[in-house]
Amino acid sequence: MSQEIILNGIRSNDTPTLGNYIGSIIPVIKLQNQYVDKYQFNLFIPDILSFTTPINHQDLYLNTVQNLKYYVAAGIDINYDNIFIYRQSYIPALSELAVIFCNFTGFGEMSRMTQFKDKSLGKEKESISVGLFTYPILMAADILLYGASYIPVGEDQKQHLEFTRDIAMRINNRFNTDLLKVPHEWQDQVKFAGHQSGLRIKSLKNPDKKMSKSNFKDDPNGTILLIDEPDEAYKKVMTATTDSIGVINYNPVNQPGITNLMNILANLVDEPIEKVITIWQGQKNYSKFKTAVADEVRIFLENYQKALNNIDESDLMRKIESSEYLLRDVATQKLYKIQQIIGLRP
Ligand code: ATP
Ligand code: MG
Repeated sequence: MSQEIILNGIRSNDTPTLGNYIGSIIPVIKLQNQYVDKYQFNLFIPDILSFTTPINHQDLYLNTVQNLKYYVAAGIDINYDNIFIYRQSYIPALSELAVIFCNFTGFGEMSRMTQFKDKSLGKEKESISVGLFTYPILMAADILLYGASYIPVGEDQKQHLEFTRDIAMRINNRFNTDLLKVPHEWQDQVKFAGHQSGLRIKSLKNPDKKMSKSNFKDDPNGTILLIDEPDEAYKKVMTATTDSIGVINYNPVNQPGITNLMNILANLVDEPIEKVITIWQGQKNYSKFKTAVADEVRIFLENYQKALNNIDESDLMRKIESSEYLLRDVATQKLYKIQQIIGLRP
């Protein structure tokens, strides 16, 4: 286990969306296809982070295993020994590390996290969990416990990644050690995942807002779930909010709806955004453009859902359990070293 680590997680609070697929799953699959011999892959479900906002706990256990299937359906090959697939809560050292990190984190620092501000906006203080507030600390522990170098996440997680680097450097400096491996900085992460800038797929109905699985109930037509009926998803694209400018342009500020559809198209057909721009820029027929995107979304979902239904659950379960068995050991040893430097152990 001396290879550099690529780490990626998707919470199991709800069913993943096309935003999760494009921002998180596609990069992991491409990296696997390119680098499986060179890197270790840690793919996991942050199940403890899945109820920082209220959920139905009856579904949590099954959703956690279910959400791991989304990686496999996309093309993760569970037969590779250096691919680990696991559940956050099955590695107990993680929680202790997060509690330790809490004491090296500033209250002001957490208060500045935009995800916390967005997710707590308009809510009564008493109904906002402290877990939502400390979310970035648990995420930092997820990364630093294993010493992951690359974390291909969507642009919404940029600030949390920066916090992870900060807390790693802070603890290393404070104790004059290099025990915590500092992950690469944001721009290098983006480049490594094959992009020029971070990805943020927007709601089809409110293209100023991120497409999020937890927003599905409020914005069903703006959110494409990976389990949507392909024909339903087709309709969502056809009725996506655009603009009255009437000419196709890649312009996130003035034409966020059209720009979002261009990003979706480029990612689904695996072409650089420049190519999509060359083909569509200047055209006036929005309906023809939407049809091209809607077709790709429908084809993608049909194939993806077939793959999802073909996953052998017992093979996957065996993989999960063996990954957890091996990682528990690595994690416990790393935690012990951290306990030693901060004086909890001799
Ligand atoms: P929630 O609303 O519950 O936070 P989410 O859709 O943001 O759901 P997460 O589980 O928080 O999903 O995030 C999983 C991964 O998907 C992260 O890497 C995140 O950056 C990425 N991701 C989520 N939404 C998008 C999006 N709209 N565009 C690109 N990447 C995204
Ligand atoms: Mg999120």
